[in-house]
Amino acid sequence: MTYNSKKDVTTTWIPKTEIGRKVINGEITSIKEIFDKGLKIREPEIVDYLIPEIKEEIIYLGGVPGKGGGKKRTPVRVTTRMHQSGRKRTLRALAAVGNENGLLGLGYASGLDARTAIEKAQKKAKLNIMTIRRGCGSWECSCSTAHSIPFKSQGNRGAVTVDLIPAPKGMGLVVANEAKKLMKLAGIKDLWSKSRGPTQTRLNFIMAIMNAFEKLNKLKVMDNDKKSVGLLEGIKE
Ligand SMILES: [Zn+2]
Repeated sequence: MTYNSKKDVTTTWIPKTEIGRKVINGEITSIKEIFDKGLKIREPEIVDYLIPEIKEEIIYLGGVPGKGGGKKRTPVRVTTRMHQSGRKRTLRALAAVGNENGLLGLGYASGLDARTAIEKAQKKAKLNIMTIRRGCGSWECSCSTAHSIPFKSQGNRGAVTVDLIPAPKGMGLVVANEAKKLMKLAGIKDLWSKSRGPTQTRLNFIMAIMNAFEKLNKLKVMDNDKKSVGLLEGIKE
């Protein structure tokens, strides 16, 4: 079952974890509290409850030959393998969630049908939600607002390397289409990117971007620099 609004969650959710119970009792009132305490979210409903404005996107992983060559992107990737009982199909989906304001999560899951794979991926994405550092690290701009990222960051996954580079206001998202979904969910409006390696493997490409965001989060920043790049740590209080 997927929940689409806070109202749905409040009427149907019976928490199974301590954190879930604290959320429903009002002892925990924001996702920031969970991050600050370093708690691990084990129920997707916690995210639905605390971030009612949460949005979901499916990152298209699959591809079928399109008309006139090229590939037509499809939501799930299908793999088939032979099994004693015959041909066995597995569907894999990649989903992202975010609040378009500094929070982003990614989930990857498989299932025997597309719907199951997508729902599982969406739930995992919620469990993996994290803050994204935003700012303006563009030397052409230096407006000190959070429309881009504060510093350049490089991420890797498999043989894929992706550089995320701060861009000036109004530049827009100069990234591949599927990656744009991540940026929009995170609330990043202007960004350049460069990638190397087999980026047609969408899963590795998207995971490399998440790796770049994780590295950006770990970067030690001096107080003076925080101001000059307009660093915004995820969410405003
Ligand atoms: Zn700027």
